[in-house]
Amino acid sequence: MDYDLIVVGAGPAGSATAAKVAAEGFRVLVLEEHPVIGRPLQCSGFVSPRTLDIAGVGQEVVLNSVKGAVVHCGQASLALGGERVHGLVLDRTRLDQLVAAAAEKRGVAFGHGCKVVGLERVDGHVEVRVERRRGGDMLARTRLVVGADGWNSVVARWMGVARAGPTIRAVGIEAEVRGRAMEKAHVFVGNRMAPGWFGWAVPLGDGRIRLGVGADPEAARVHPRALLEMLLEAYPEHFASLKVLSYSGGFIPLYAGRRNGCLDSVADRVMLVGDAARQVKSTSGGGIYTGLVAAECAAATAVRALGEGDLSASALASYERAWRSRLGQELERGRDVRQVFLSLSDDQLQWVLRLFGYGPLQRIISRYGDIDYPSAMFARLAVATPPLRALIALSRTPPLHWMGILGRGISKLAGGGGNGVRPG
Ligand SMILES: Cc1cc2nc3c(=O)[nH]c(=O)nc-3n(C[C@H](O)[C@H](O)[C@H](O)COP(=O)(O)OP(=O)(O)OC[C@H]3O[C@@H](n4cnc5c(N)ncnc54)[C@H](O)[C@@H]3O)c2cc1C
Repeated sequence: MDYDLIVVGAGPAGSATAAKVAAEGFRVLVLEEHPVIGRPLQCSGFVSPRTLDIAGVGQEVVLNSVKGAVVHCGQASLALGGERVHGLVLDRTRLDQLVAAAAEKRGVAFGHGCKVVGLERVDGHVEVRVERRRGGDMLARTRLVVGADGWNSVVARWMGVARAGPTIRAVGIEAEVRGRAMEKAHVFVGNRMAPGWFGWAVPLGDGRIRLGVGADPEAARVHPRALLEMLLEAYPEHFASLKVLSYSGGFIPLYAGRRNGCLDSVADRVMLVGDAARQVKSTSGGGIYTGLVAAECAAATAVRALGEGDLSASALASYERAWRSRLGQELERGRDVRQVFLSLSDDQLQWVLRLFGYGPLQRIISRYGDIDYPSAMFARLAVATPPLRALIALSRTPPLHWMGILGRGISKLAGGGGNGVRPG
């Protein structure tokens, strides 16, 4: 079984890469460990409207359009949004299946229930060892491998990049519930409720809500399920008398930065894309859009390299340059913004929420808020608010304890013990 490209993983990033390479006439195989694409579901499916275009799908995957969000910290809250649609809630399983179906139409072969368990470079090829649910084990040969196999990527481990360099993982637990009708998305921040990250409630539009908590597994002292219970108890006005329909969860490999002087997503005859390459926004944990952008870059490099017959790491490095040029700055800034928020106590977070509730700042957020490219909004907010500007500047300057000092400064501004007061 010889292929030009084997893609490991039939998530959106893998199938989209495969489709574009097969469209140029190359023999492409996608290996997916699960028998059904898109199952099990491990995602809220909250994306920007532009994600539909890049995924090549239409309204048939959209469950709901969301115009605004309310951010909560304790009893402080901030409503954002206006009339623009900021986010869509997708049927994530359907999205994966449609992207895969489009790839199949372009000639991609799919191996369902095929778990990749080993890779080896042999005689100018890569041999891929596969455990099949049916039909026994299999060995396939390919000129190039794309690892699109998610947060626990076997391909990244084989390349030796999985444990190298900075790593930030959030663990997310989610419940689909039937409850009180909700129009906006809700975000819950606070160190007790969601240590190291945040909670969310996304309305599906038919009385169902996807409700979740993401936390830093090292900072959370309790099981994520307990955090979800805590969230339900803390906001009875939103979550009283709801019925849990199902639970899901998973790890989210947040973008953490790059290794000094090293390529993080390519090696000889191999590239990583999507969660496998940690191309995930640290602010929101969203990885669908970024994975699809990277898939375009990976496919362009694969087509050129396969055509020219040079599959060395240096030939594939154009992929890493391309995705970094389209996503790198946003991912880096998102990581910085996350660091800033992590350094704040709950009192300080409440104060920031109240600060952002101040009319002109709220207008900046509603106008420039963009879940894929939030840095433009943060830059404008920073210009408008000197304390925030200082926080962001210091977050880039080690040592990070400067942020703590500034955070204490903010507490003082906020009224000594941290009882937030409305600015201005
Ligand atoms: C609880 C939760 C909520 C989330 N909510 C959102 C959200 O609202 N919006 C958003 O944009 N992102 C969200 N994400 C992140 C998003 O799900 C990922 O960033 C996205 O799925 C990444 O796509 P991918 O194609 O890179 O990988 P994946 O979708 O993870 O696909 C990887 C595929 O590889 C397969 N695979 C793994 N190992 C092997 C192997 N050895 N052999 C063969 N196949 C293998 C897996 O079965 C899987 O199908 C959320 C994540 C979690 C955990």
